[in-house]
Amino acid sequence: MKKYTIITIITIGIILGFLTGIYIYKINQIKNKEIAQTNNDNKNNIESVNEANNENVIKTNSEEEKVSPNCTIILKVYYGKCNHIIEKKQTIEEAQVNMTEEEIKTKFSDWELQKFTPTEIVLYKEVDEFCNEHYVLREKDGYIAIFKIDENNNETLIEITDIPTEYLTEQDLENIQNGITIYGKKELNKAIEDFE
Ligand SMILES: [Zn+2]
Repeated sequence: MKKYTIITIITIGIILGFLTGIYIYKINQIKNKEIAQTNNDNKNNIESVNEANNENVIKTNSEEEKVSPNCTIILKVYYGKCNHIIEKKQTIEEAQVNMTEEEIKTKFSDWELQKFTPTEIVLYKEVDEFCNEHYVLREKDGYIAIFKIDENNNETLIEITDIPTEYLTEQDLENIQNGITIYGKKELNKAIEDFE
């Protein structure tokens, strides 16, 4: 009898131990699943936060890239017939304020957009034309005079300045007598200022 009792107790113990083992194993499995699920949720949350951040970056960029009211537009035209690039500066038109780079591109579709910042836009194009800004400085009645040269090399007097030639240096006088050719209005103004 005593032997049987011992064997029964041992058998019950083994069975209980086995069942407890299974129970603990199952519990752990469920716990692990829960942890994995939580991790996934966290990951998803992080991803959606990242997406939100990206959207913010795009929005901020487009806000930065809009034309400001004090923007300057520089129009550069390359004239193929005389190989000159003439630059013209303009202040922005009211209707173009707050335009994005894409909108400016559409607006100036026949120009190449070389630079786009909120305060400066550079547009470039090439035309097979004469720039029509060829000048020559000559002496006329004792003063420096400005002549315009057309495509066929014809000279037309456009202005006699109030700069007398008698005070010029010998070298300047000689240059003026030979004619000083100048391309572009900006360069012309600069040359006149230098003589004043
Ligand atoms: Zn030219």
